[in-house]
Amino acid sequence: MDKIFIVATMDVEPATSTTHASATGPESWEDGEKFIRGYVDRTGDFGFPVSFFIHPEVTVVQSDLFLELGEKGHCVEGLHMHAWKFRDGKYKAHFGGLNEKDMRANLSEGISMWQSGMGRRPLYFRPGTFSANDFMYQVLVDLGFRGGSCSLPGRIWRRMNAIWTGAEPDPHRAHAVFRQLVGDIEFANMPVSVDFSSRTVTVGSDFQKIDPNSPEAAGANTVSSHWDLRPDWRDADYVTITNNILDQIQVRAPTIPVLNFITHNDNDHTNPKDRVCANLIKSMTAITECCQARGITPVGTTLDHICDLVLAEPIKMEPFVYA
Ligand SMILES: [Zn+2]
Repeated sequence: MDKIFIVATMDVEPATSTTHASATGPESWEDGEKFIRGYVDRTGDFGFPVSFFIHPEVTVVQSDLFLELGEKGHCVEGLHMHAWKFRDGKYKAHFGGLNEKDMRANLSEGISMWQSGMGRRPLYFRPGTFSANDFMYQVLVDLGFRGGSCSLPGRIWRRMNAIWTGAEPDPHRAHAVFRQLVGDIEFANMPVSVDFSSRTVTVGSDFQKIDPNSPEAAGANTVSSHWDLRPDWRDADYVTITNNILDQIQVRAPTIPVLNFITHNDNDHTNPKDRVCANLIKSMTAITECCQARGITPVGTTLDHICDLVLAEPIKMEPFVYA
């Protein structure tokens, strides 16, 4: 492996002043734009363009910003969806808790609003908190999506219907009926890159690790995850995580090696003293330096390019074998 694609992603949430009280996101639209532009500048310092997943309401308010960023080479064709906080809160479920009929309805309404803001259809998708079930990929294909970043391998967040144990770790065609597997449908999924060598336990959307044997860890909102390269963690060792992920990618030797990470538009990436902004710089420095130390060139790119590569490959679905 002499090069690896680096894909920086961001989930873009509406201003919390306009959504459910417990939703995440920037407090105001102005902060949201400032944080997005800061993220583009920081990732740009390392040569990494950004792939955005935009919640439908955001496109109605900030389409000019994303159309501008699209012209500068960022991927702005992604839809992000938290079913429960969309519009009037009709869907009392996380995305992976929807039945097939409601998933189609929820996505169709989201596409319609997104299209009214952006003037075109979304082509890529990421569910909020990676909440998903086995209806997801076929519904996405039916509604015109060609790819996404829909999985966080190893995540177990039961309350959010976000369970990805055993999921394929590298870019692949999705499977029509079993979301963890490589399939043959016209949808390319780019999983978030994770370090499979250990797990960390947190509570809800707080990125502070807790003792997995503590009473707190037995709570209903516990999240068990592998470490990844998101800047949101409170105690991540980005050099170790990067080296472990690279070790594991080199062993797996995928045809399309990708290292990608996620964050949200709720931290001030214009301020290097902001904890999350400082972590973003640490994470991207680790990515750049660990790749270079191995003689691997990090090549910044966007999700649409990764999907082009996946969909151009021959079908790799694993054949049926008897036990
Ligand atoms: Zn989200």
